[in-house]
Amino acid sequence: MRIVCLDLEGVLVPEIWIEFAERTGIPELRRTTRDEPDYDTLMKYRLNILAEKKLGLPDIQDVIASMGPMEGARRFLDELRDTYQVVILSDTFYEFAKPLMKQLGLPTLFCHSLEANDEGVLVDYHLRMPDQKREAVRRFKELNFKVVAAGDSYNDTAMLGEAHGGILFHPPENVVREFPQYPVVRDYAGLRAEIDKAFAKAG
Ligand SMILES: [Mg+2]
Repeated sequence: MRIVCLDLEGVLVPEIWIEFAERTGIPELRRTTRDEPDYDTLMKYRLNILAEKKLGLPDIQDVIASMGPMEGARRFLDELRDTYQVVILSDTFYEFAKPLMKQLGLPTLFCHSLEANDEGVLVDYHLRMPDQKREAVRRFKELNFKVVAAGDSYNDTAMLGEAHGGILFHPPENVVREFPQYPVVRDYAGLRAEIDKAFAKAG
């Protein structure tokens, strides 16, 4: 009775906002949770820029549809799901993630939602609940699951701490320095090995 909770961006798919920034030539949109740990501050900053540049949801979805998962992600995930239950816990939005989730074989995803007006301009975002990654892990534990979690960034560290085992996947150096208690892996073979090891330790 084991669940693996995985972050999405930076673990299975590229950082959606960074990819979007590159393809649209708007460097201000490169800012992510790696740079700004306060998620609400970051989102308001992003929505303001999109509104200023008159870019709407269809523009963003066009970019996302062409991005694709990271090299080897689908195979890693398929093999992981052959052994464990897997739930992806992400601070992205269903409207953004859908084309990528199809390419990953439609694993379970818990994330947030966006609100667009009739012109497709994003007017707001809705977090399903605060601190949802950690809350999900806590609830899975209450349901008697052993939980191992993996992510790459600040917004993952609460769920890593709540889980029976936490793993950092390809994190930036500042996260490595601030959270030395978690093992660091940089490829899918290493991640799979640490997941198996963490469950063995959790019993
Ligand atoms: Mg991430």
